[in-house]
Amino acid sequence: MRKKDGFTLIELIVVIAILGILALFLVPSFIGYAQDAKKAVCDSNLTSINRAYQTKLTRLGSDENYDLLNEVLNNKNEEYFSTVPKCPDGGSYLIESYTTDSGKTAYRTKCTIHSKTTSTIPVQIFDQMKDLMDNPDKYKQFNPYGSDKDINDWQLNSNDQVRAILKKANGGKWPTLILDGSDTVYYVQPYMDTYKSETTTPSGQKYVYASTGENWFASLIYDRDSGKWYQPSTKNQTILIANKSYDTVKEEMEKLHWVEANPVISGEIIMP
Ligand SMILES: [Zn+2]
Repeated sequence: MRKKDGFTLIELIVVIAILGILALFLVPSFIGYAQDAKKAVCDSNLTSINRAYQTKLTRLGSDENYDLLNEVLNNKNEEYFSTVPKCPDGGSYLIESYTTDSGKTAYRTKCTIHSKTTSTIPVQIFDQMKDLMDNPDKYKQFNPYGSDKDINDWQLNSNDQVRAILKKANGGKWPTLILDGSDTVYYVQPYMDTYKSETTTPSGQKYVYASTGENWFASLIYDRDSGKWYQPSTKNQTILIANKSYDTVKEEMEKLHWVEANPVISGEIIMP
């Protein structure tokens, strides 16, 4: 009978092969863990910032306050943190407004990388536009035509007027996006179809697009149904959106074979 001490060559080869197969499964999941860990750190940062803001609000007995959250975010007078929480993946923290269950406007901090804001931004602008139509009183402080001007004179059927109010409400600038591999900046803006002629009645459809300046040539269009951005398949093939309903614009996008786009946020965006 053979003495059993140690491994035979065959056994060693089998063990090494098994270890190799195990490694194949383990390495990708370790990478996954690293990403999960970064997201967890980021989520915990956002929780800390939002909690510091809420604590301060409670202490002051104050209503939701955009400026105050901005102070917390910038750690004004080093009052809130010993070190300012930063996203481990290099994302920027921005302020997002949202509607609470009781219908009030509230503010919170989001990460440009971990909170998927290229989708939340157009939805937010869309909701703002709708909110402005429904509750113009709320936007009194952003009246760009002088606070003495009556809301009834605001002409909320004019895109120029609506955009001027919303732009002011968003801190005087539109959020900006860039596409991978290009440094062209696109401004995210709202549009609503109020065009009336002898043959057409306005559809009233509202949508969000992005252009290289403040004009009506869309280089990117956000489709709310699919929750995705679209871009021309051929460079510079923009769509003139002026006086068009979203249905018409969507038809043109299909005809021109627009494709899905994955823009990223450019710079730091603060949207109250
Ligand atoms: Zn982050």
